[in-house]
Amino acid sequence: MKTWKPDTCECLVEEIYNGTQIVGGGQVLKKCPAHAALADNEIYGVLYSNPDGENKRKNQMLRILLGYEDVKDLGLEELKKFIIWALNNIKIKDPNKTDSGLILPK
Ligand SMILES: [Zn+2]
Repeated sequence: MKTWKPDTCECLVEEIYNGTQIVGGGQVLKKCPAHAALADNEIYGVLYSNPDGENKRKNQMLRILLGYEDVKDLGLEELKKFIIWALNNIKIKDPNKTDSGLILPK
């Protein structure tokens, strides 16, 4: 058993292993505000193991954007379009100018 925190929120859960294979979620150690209302036995599915698990879809989107995987559903196609639009429209703030813009983390 190991603890796991998705990079999509601040929940902290246990993952149950059979050898090196993850077989499911264990005890919920912490629920983030977005998932506070979920039952403990639903958290791991929502975070990962359901077909639309949040962290799974985030990982899938990264693979799509990097060209390792094709888009397989409309939700991700729409998200891909939005991310590409956002990347094309980000205005980087020049610290020497006063106009507004996004400051990217270093
Ligand atoms: Zn959460």
